[in-house]
Amino acid sequence: MLSSSTYPIGTPGQPWGDTERAEWRARQVRRRSYVDEVARAIDRLRDRFDIAPYGQLDYPPEQFELFAVRSRDWNHALPIVLVTGGVHGYETSGVHGALRFLDRHAQDYAGRVNLLVAPCVSPWAYERIHRWNPLALDPNRSFRDDSPAAESAALLRLVAPLRDAVLVHIDLHETTDSDETEFRPALAARDGAPFEPGTIPDGFYVVGDSDNPQPAFQQALIAAVAKVTHIAPADAKGEIIGSPVVAPGVINYPLKQLGLCAGITNAPYTSTTEVYPDSPRATPEQCNAAQAAAVCAAIDFALAHPPR
Ligand SMILES: [Zn+2]
Repeated sequence: MLSSSTYPIGTPGQPWGDTERAEWRARQVRRRSYVDEVARAIDRLRDRFDIAPYGQLDYPPEQFELFAVRSRDWNHALPIVLVTGGVHGYETSGVHGALRFLDRHAQDYAGRVNLLVAPCVSPWAYERIHRWNPLALDPNRSFRDDSPAAESAALLRLVAPLRDAVLVHIDLHETTDSDETEFRPALAARDGAPFEPGTIPDGFYVVGDSDNPQPAFQQALIAAVAKVTHIAPADAKGEIIGSPVVAPGVINYPLKQLGLCAGITNAPYTSTTEVYPDSPRATPEQCNAAQAAAVCAAIDFALAHPPR
C-alpha cells in the first residue's frame, strides 16, 4: 500500500492545516478561462433563455460570477428539470455537455418542462482543472446546511425554493485517470489517511441514489448513452470504483448523506453521470454528446413515467 507520504504536501498521517492548504493552493496554476470558455458561451444563449446570475465567488484578487440558465417562459404548472455541471471544475464534459444540451436539445422540451441549468458550479476549479475549491474543499461533498464551500452554498440557495418541484435532476461528472494519480492521493494526504490505489473504469456509468434507486430510469440513461460511447464494465469484484454494480453501468450512493450535488432536491428522478474522457475510444466531442444524451434520456423517461 502507498501512504500519503507519496503526496508532496503535508506530514504523512496528519491532516492538513491552513499552512498545507495554502501550500497546495499556491501550486495550482490557472490553465484556462472561465469567462472566455463558459461565461461567453452562456451569454450566447441569451436570445433563447433567461440568464440568471445566482452569486459571486470572491477569491481575491479574483471574482467569479455564477450563472444559471432558465427557460424563458417559466410556467409554474410544469415540472422542473435541474441540470448541474462543473461541480468538479476539471470535469470538462460536465460543463460543455450542459451547454451542448442547452444549445442543441433544450428547445425540444419547450412547453413541457421548466429548465434550470447551472453549467459550471465551480469556476475557480474549472480554470485550474482541479477538483477542489481554493480552500481544498470538494464541493461535491459539501452540499449540506451551512456549507463551508461557497460553490455548494450558492447552488443550494438557488435551488432551495424549488426543491420539491423538481422532477429530474441530472448532475454531470467525469471519472478521469487523474482521479487516481492526483486527486485521490491529494485527498488522502489532506485527511492524513493512507492512500489505497483503486481502478478507473473504462467507460460511462451513472450513480443513482441508494435511498431512491429508480433502476428503470438509470437503465434508460445507460441505454441512451450506449449509442454514443461505451459503458463501463464491472471489475473483477463486480464493482465500479469500489461500489457494487447493481445493473450494467449503474452504482448507487446515499446522495444526501454524502453531501452530493445530486441530493440537493427531493426529485423523484436523480442521477449523476460519469463520463470517461481518457479512454482511447472516446473523443471530447463524444463525451459532451454523452452528457447531453443522458440529460435528454432522463427528461424523456421522467415525462413518460410521471411519479404518482
Ligand atoms: Zn465529479
